[in-house]
Parts: sequence; structure tokens; C-alpha cells
Amino acid sequence: MLIRQDGTALWVHAPAKLNLFLEVLGKRADGFHELETLMVAISLHDTLSFTEEPTPAIRLHCHSRLGSAEAVPTGDGNLVVRAAKLLQQYSGTSRGVSIHLWKRIPMAAGLAGGSTDAAAALVALDRLWELGLAPEELLSLAAQLGSDVAFFVRRVPAAICRGRGEKIQEVDRPLELSFVVARPASGLSTAEGFRHCRVSSRPRSVRPLVELLIDGRLKAASRCLHNSLQETATQLNPEVTDLITRLDGQPVVASAMTGSGTACFGLCGTPRLAGRIARGLRGSGVPWVTAVQTRA
Ligand code: ATP
Repeated sequence: MLIRQDGTALWVHAPAKLNLFLEVLGKRADGFHELETLMVAISLHDTLSFTEEPTPAIRLHCHSRLGSAEAVPTGDGNLVVRAAKLLQQYSGTSRGVSIHLWKRIPMAAGLAGGSTDAAAALVALDRLWELGLAPEELLSLAAQLGSDVAFFVRRVPAAICRGRGEKIQEVDRPLELSFVVARPASGLSTAEGFRHCRVSSRPRSVRPLVELLIDGRLKAASRCLHNSLQETATQLNPEVTDLITRLDGQPVVASAMTGSGTACFGLCGTPRLAGRIARGLRGSGVPWVTAVQTRA
């Protein structure tokens, strides 16, 4: 997450994420699933600006850069507004804010667009409203907003996340990776993706993948990419199967779905190759495709 001050406004680049590994370890009594996942922040991002209001009002103005008819939720339906209200309530501040959100991360895609925007709001408003909250306080508010929000609040480039995703262990060595990321025309809600998933009877460990990626051994790492939710997603949405087939037809090292889908990615040897594959797939009619790199 990049934060920049410009006059009275705070500008934030809120990155999307990819899950390079996702194992469902169990179903919990609270309805959530117990996970082990490797998340990496990528260069695809939403942009948000935050300017203080003279009243306690929270105003959100959305500008879609999605290139599709999908409507970005406004008002309390948007996680940015929910994050701002939660922060107001928790801190007791009567300061308000005008927020602009330029939405580029496709929604219901497993790229955590809503979660990263919520994290951006928590981090930026803590600063704009001069609240001085401790990191643990921000992380606890993040967990109330969604399972992936804490990863972005920590502002680490890559992490192994456990629990329902909120227990974060930073990968403390750099992972410099390139991907082509694509999404079919339709999305899939996270709840739907998890509802039908199977708990692994012989769970795999994320460790071998992390070690291989740190060492830059992409070919060997490609055999360790894994997503427990992919099989369900392909059954619920044949467009995911089609997209994986198309990615596998390209010179990618390996491909997989991210999160609960429906976006999928191909791991590429170089940023240049990722760009070339993205252009080719766009030309062949894939509805949304881009080339990205790992990023904090
Ligand atoms: P995850 O990977 O965390 O499961 P996702 O990428 O599948 O999430 P999101 O893009 O976060 O899904 O959006 C899920 C739903 O959340 C959307 O369909 C939308 O209705 C709602 N939503 C609320 N606020 C936002 C926001 N700021 N950006 C995107 N979606 C939002």
C-alpha cells in the first residue's frame, strides 16, 4: 500500500492480492473455514483519496475504471464506508471525510478489492484524523471488516495467512514474481465459493512453495501452486475451466485460480513475457486481463 500526502489530501494505492497457495484445513463452528494460504500483493491497484470534511459526514464518490457495467457499491454497501464508520465509532472522533475511489480491481474475483479498499481507509483515516491507533488496534478493526483486510493493514509484500486469513506471518525475503491475471465475464461470491468446498483430508504445507519461490526456482515451485477452492469453482462456473485452459495454452510456468475466483493467473518467467501474454489474451477476447508484478 503506497500512501502520499498532497496538500490536505491523502492519496493511497491499494493493491490487489493473489493466493499462490490456499488449503482449506477445516470448517469452524462460527461458519468460517480454517485456512493456510500464501498471499502476495500485486501492482494492480485501486486509488483512493481522503480529504477532511468540516462535518462528521462520510462521503464516498466512486469512479469505475473496470471497463464493464458492474456497479461499484455506494453508501454502507461499500467496505470503505463501513471501515470509516467503524473507525469513527471506535475512536469517538467527530471528524468527517470525503473519499474518492477509482476502482480498477475487478470485483467478486478473489483479488480482495473490497478488503484492500477497507484497509486503505483504516490506515489513511488513522493518519488523517490523527488517531494514533496502535497496530494491534487497527488489526482488530480489520478482522471485524473481513478476513483479508488484516493482510493489507500489515502492508507486507507477501505473507502466509492462517486462521480465517487474519493471522499473518510475513515472508521476510523478497519474492520478485510476474503474472498475467485474467477474469472471465462472470464473478463468484466468496460465500458461494466456500459453501461447496471440500476440506482436505491430507492437507499440504505451504512451506515448500515459499522456499522454492524465495530461491527463484519457478519450475519446481509451479508443482506446488495449489488452491483447494479451484475444483468447486470450475464446477460452479465453467468459465473458470475455460480460462485455466487458455492460460495453460500460453508459455506460462503454471496457472491457478486466486482465492475463491473467478480470476486466474499464470506465473510468468519475466514481466515482459507477462505483458506479451496479456496482450495476446486480450486480443483473443478474454474479457479482462492484465500483467502484474509482486508489490508491497
Ligand atoms: P476476496 O478475495 O477477499 O474474497 P473478492 O475479490 O472475491 O474478495 P471483492 O472485490 O472484495 O471480492 O468484492 C466482493 C463484494 O463486496 C462485491 O461484489 C461488492 O458488492 C462488495 N464490496 C463492498 N465494497 C467494495 C469495494 N470497495 N470494492 C469492491 N467490492 C466491494
